[in-house]
Amino acid sequence: MASSDSTPIHAPEYVLIWDIDGTILSTDGAGVRAFDAAIGKLGIEGGKLSAIGDWKGRTDRWLADAVLRHFNLDPETHAEALIQAYLESLPEAFQSGYSALIPGVEKMIERAAVSPAFAQGLLTGNLRKGAQIKLGQFQLWDYFTFGAFADDGFDRMDLPPVTQQYIADSFGHGFPADQVVLIGDTEHDIACAKALGARSLGIASYPGAQDRLASAGADLIVEDFKDLDSIMEWITKN
Ligand SMILES: [Mg+2]
Repeated sequence: MASSDSTPIHAPEYVLIWDIDGTILSTDGAGVRAFDAAIGKLGIEGGKLSAIGDWKGRTDRWLADAVLRHFNLDPETHAEALIQAYLESLPEAFQSGYSALIPGVEKMIERAAVSPAFAQGLLTGNLRKGAQIKLGQFQLWDYFTFGAFADDGFDRMDLPPVTQQYIADSFGHGFPADQVVLIGDTEHDIACAKALGARSLGIASYPGAQDRLASAGADLIVEDFKDLDSIMEWITKN
């Protein structure tokens, strides 16, 4: 991944901003298992991430904070240790599951990557290192030229300004927001798209996703990327 302070990049016509979990890949619970292992390493007997309820779309730092508060531990003191333990547990957690790409996503990322009309970045609740581990499982990390991660903000809504700044610095302040498309699987992604003034492509990759994405106002909802021609046509129609 190129750093955000590299020399100016040829302005693309479209910028695709990708979420990771549930959008590019399904980890088959690897992230949850890694968090559970990390909670155990902190000595919280029987502690599970599921104790905090619905975590979809939250940042890893938000999750660490919520878990520690739930078990009456001070995040100021313990968050860093929990996060490090999570990152250490993540590669092994992948070995004990069946992580998979959302059907067709690899083709879409590759197709956009070979076209000068597209730039691709990440806007994800993962820590940068966690994102690298997850995408690295499928050799997809190097396709993304920029990213906003949990390292950049505690709440997911802290991340759109980071993305916006990158786009302004790299492609010019006049870059039209409607040529930015955010791709994600939860209402939090759709909220980020709105904050960016971007269009949103909702990926309904799990039960109930369709309703969550529709209620949030996703501009287009698909289950996967198998009908790639239609998706690319929608992205480039304006
Ligand atoms: Mg997601």
